[in-house]
Amino acid sequence: MQENSCKNCGAHFTVTSDDLEFYKKISPSFDGKIYEIPTPTFCPDCRFQRRLAMRNEHKLYKRKCDSCDKTIIALFSEKSEYTVYCQDCWWSDKLDAHSYAKEFDFSRTFFEQFNELYKKVPAMNLINGLNSLQNSEYVNFMTDAKNCYLVFAANWLEDCMFSSFIWKSKDTLDSAFSTDLELCYECVDCDHLYNCDYLRNSESCSDCVLSFDLKNCSHCFGCVNLRNKKYCFFNEQLEQGEYENRVAAIKKDKQEFQEAQERFEQFRYRFPHLYAHQIHCENSTGDAIKNCKNVFNSFEGYESEDCKNMFNFPGQCKDCMDVSGCAEIQLVYDSACVFPGYNISFSNMVLNGGNNILYSAFCVNNCKNLFGCVGLKKDEYSILNKKYTPEEYEKIIPKIIEHMRRTGEFGEFFTVSISQFGYNESSAQDYFPMTKEQAIKKGYKWRD
Ligand SMILES: [Zn+2]
Ligand SMILES: [Zn+2]
Repeated sequence: MQENSCKNCGAHFTVTSDDLEFYKKISPSFDGKIYEIPTPTFCPDCRFQRRLAMRNEHKLYKRKCDSCDKTIIALFSEKSEYTVYCQDCWWSDKLDAHSYAKEFDFSRTFFEQFNELYKKVPAMNLINGLNSLQNSEYVNFMTDAKNCYLVFAANWLEDCMFSSFIWKSKDTLDSAFSTDLELCYECVDCDHLYNCDYLRNSESCSDCVLSFDLKNCSHCFGCVNLRNKKYCFFNEQLEQGEYENRVAAIKKDKQEFQEAQERFEQFRYRFPHLYAHQIHCENSTGDAIKNCKNVFNSFEGYESEDCKNMFNFPGQCKDCMDVSGCAEIQLVYDSACVFPGYNISFSNMVLNGGNNILYSAFCVNNCKNLFGCVGLKKDEYSILNKKYTPEEYEKIIPKIIEHMRRTGEFGEFFTVSISQFGYNESSAQDYFPMTKEQAIKKGYKWRD
């Protein structure tokens, strides 16, 4: 166990013996020698903030594709200094990321050189699954969706609007952090609902309205903490006819409904609230997690094991720490948006498979053995987008790591100033809000 003090906010945080074991497990080896990942200098929250700063989830702009000139929706405004390609151009041979290759310069810092490359390689307009969206132009961080509008960080949807972090859902509006919703409105932290409105922390319910923490209920209104109930109104058991009359009267009058909402907000504080919303979890801490085992300080995810400090992880994560926006990953550390991947650290956006990747961004389609690369597809043994033989790669990387140890960069995720986005465009602003003055003082970009 080790006590560290955060280099960013000053908070004390503990590095446990399990953490130290994990760092050992993910430390890369080259030429038979292990290069240990040092313990973090930022606390878990500051590490999370630094990753979120790389991600623009929902600030959309209209602009031209810099390759085909088509008008597109993009995460970058016309004012952005980045070259931006539409999905079709980015994923096509029009993008030759190797043409931006650089030799590593040992007289300069790694982040400085990476940032130059990051600025030159054309960026993706939106982060969506290629050819997996139908009639869903105004969405981001999405795959497998049909007829969706203004939905973000979501998968497997049909006919959904104005929602974030929802999965496997249909005909749903204004909802967040939920799975398997159908015909739902204003539902948050819910699972498996049908025809429900204004529900929170509830599961396996149908035809319920304005309720909190219900399980296996139907036709309930204004209820809290109920299990296997039907026709309850503010937790009072009614006959079906009486229930239907009362609910119909409230539903048809906007004023009545608003009053019911106000009454419900007072009502629900009379009841004990579960400390966290966890479904079928074992030895885990965090909120809105399901089917997890040994998962700690993690939020909004499911079906994962032996993970820590995770956020937005819809499934199959094993042996990972500090990852936000990911699924089907193993041995991944301090990275953002990896899906799926194995043995990846300090990277942003590794999509459609990746293996043995360090300090890279937007590398897709089963890349392997990359260091400091941007925008490569199905590639291997590259450093700053320059291709090497496996033997050369194994020899150069240790030198770069030693160099990065001296500059204090090794073991640190990309600094916030490297982000393609203004701090106020990024998800960091949603969870760690800053004023323009505070952001500029820290050296972060700001988009006016
Ligand atoms: Zn901190
Ligand atoms: Zn284009």
